[in-house]
Amino acid sequence: MERYHAGSSRLPTATRSPYARRVTHELSGRPAPARVEWIDRVGSTNVELVTRAGADPAAWPHLSALATTDQTAGRGRLDRVWTAPPGTALALSVVVRPDIRPDAYGWLSLLAGVAMTRALQDLGAVATLKWPNDVRIGGRKVCGILSELLPDLSGAVVGSGVNITLAKADLPVPTATSLAVEGVVASADDVVAAYLPHLATLVARLEESGGDAPAAGLVRETSDALDTLGRSVRVLLPDGSTRIGTATGIDDDGRLRVEQDGLPPLVVSAGEVTHLRY
Ligand code: ATP
Repeated sequence: MERYHAGSSRLPTATRSPYARRVTHELSGRPAPARVEWIDRVGSTNVELVTRAGADPAAWPHLSALATTDQTAGRGRLDRVWTAPPGTALALSVVVRPDIRPDAYGWLSLLAGVAMTRALQDLGAVATLKWPNDVRIGGRKVCGILSELLPDLSGAVVGSGVNITLAKADLPVPTATSLAVEGVVASADDVVAAYLPHLATLVARLEESGGDAPAAGLVRETSDALDTLGRSVRVLLPDGSTRIGTATGIDDDGRLRVEQDGLPPLVVSAGEVTHLRY
């Protein structure tokens, strides 16, 4: 899990959301998000939420969320950028303060990917997960996920960017797609309402097992969501080298296992991979 420094950013106008009520209503018995706050515009929901939750932890309890459809300085892994025209994409960050051992924190990002894959499936998309946590439709990326630790290490902020209404001409890179381009009619609010219950349920299961993802059945369920396994993959490493092999599974820590011809298997964590291609 990467850790970034929270920079200062302009405080946007806060708006009350009718969706928090709707999300709660749709949960019916499943774990409810503590708070969903929508803001008109923000540099990065992750930066903003790390700052807010760090300054006032009581106001941002476990599973509280900050959302916008106008994120102006979104980031990906390794300081890459995440861009979308205003009003066309959801940026959603969630505070997660699970009662698990610290070495299980790496699972939060993966589980967020599983939760978003399930959420988009619920909305009618044929979504799959590319390890570690790109959600894709038809092999194109519709959602990216970035997790960051809170400065006091009391939890993490799990952020997702989801392309909602971007037209084909607006897609920032050829490898991207949006729900609209894929013919899925859903709003940013629909995605929030579908995603948070899945995330809450998966994190609760990780907690109930004390952070033991295999015992909780989460290794199997994450593997089921991944379309990476069984594929020929190219792994680009930070030193610039490339490894080619077959992705055969994930281990108990969520690391990807790649079998290479005539070489010992490569086992990599998300933080160790610059790009994964297939
Ligand atoms: P990669 O896809 O290159 O292996 P990654 O999956 O780790 O890397 P991130 O670094 O998390 O991806 O996301 C940033 C990358 O996502 C950018 O480099 C860009 O290629 C792509 N990107 C940026 N904005 C969008 C968007 N709105 N939709 C889809 N992809 C985007």
